[in-house]
Amino acid sequence: MINYAATCGFNLGLVRLMFEGLKKQTSKDFELVLSDHYFLRHQDAVKELAAHADFPVTHVPVIPHPTLPRHYLDCSVFNQSPLFGESERFVRLSEWRLIHPTLTETLLAAPSRHLVDFHFQHAPAEAWNEDEGIINWDAVQFEDLPQTFHERTPINCYGNNSLDMTTWVEVNGFNEVAFGFYHFEDHDFAARLANSEIPCIRVGNKMFRIPHDYGANPGRCESPPERPFAAACHKCEQLIATIRAVVGEVSYFQWSEFFLLRGKDVRVVDSEFQSFIICNDCGFLFPWLTDPRGWAIYEGTDYKRSPINVEGAGRNLNTLWDEMRGQPLDLKLRVFEASWVDPYFLK
Ligand SMILES: [Zn+2]
Repeated sequence: MINYAATCGFNLGLVRLMFEGLKKQTSKDFELVLSDHYFLRHQDAVKELAAHADFPVTHVPVIPHPTLPRHYLDCSVFNQSPLFGESERFVRLSEWRLIHPTLTETLLAAPSRHLVDFHFQHAPAEAWNEDEGIINWDAVQFEDLPQTFHERTPINCYGNNSLDMTTWVEVNGFNEVAFGFYHFEDHDFAARLANSEIPCIRVGNKMFRIPHDYGANPGRCESPPERPFAAACHKCEQLIATIRAVVGEVSYFQWSEFFLLRGKDVRVVDSEFQSFIICNDCGFLFPWLTDPRGWAIYEGTDYKRSPINVEGAGRNLNTLWDEMRGQPLDLKLRVFEASWVDPYFLK
């Protein structure tokens, strides 16, 4: 079975399109797990959609870390929906993706210990109508993109791809330590798969991106999420705001240099191949990128598993998956919520 492990921080129209794409699947051996920044707002409508769907639906609120500060982005959200599913394989799904009716079939045919990655393709505006929940495949120009096989996962894979849960917990999912401020958890994930010699199958014409602007609110949401992230301290927020105002576009390498300039206000903690800069006041954590070439930091490393418990950040997803799998939803919710700070999941 396939878990469509979805997140939602946008409008209900896109969620309707998601249901529409799933209803049209040629194989029904799947479930939908939707982690929603607007769970309360969408609850009744999603119940109604689920009542008319011929597949199981799990709708849960996004549950962020209760105390660890995040700024704008927290990529650990992408670990939530895989953990709430019961399938052997999941595919990460954003609500701004149109999925082709044969996607489930393609994923079911994929061997385990193989990443299935999708060519980055855009859907033309005529291909969907989010007000009416209509997908029009006739408007999509399919490209000539034969399936390719890569002995090692390429590092340029995008995050909306698919992996079996056994391998996913082995590499410890998406990195919950380094990406509480910016994106590229997908490259980090791909780097660990590459170092673990996990092959990749890359397919085309199965997943199409709906062009959109990311929202300006935490979690890239279009309006404030129901459960906001813990806030960084005034000094951290002011540093970020000042650099943005004065310097403008700053590379992640430069960000780490700026955070280091805070001197005694921060401490540096080493963890495997990477060090982290941590605010002494609030615990806001920033990865110390030592190479201006960005993702070149992964070159020559033996980095196979995302870090666990760097001063409270980063859970052991293998342990968490063991505890959640097969349990009723109310228990899963309690375990997941507790897992952020329970020492059992931090070792
Ligand atoms: Zn701070």
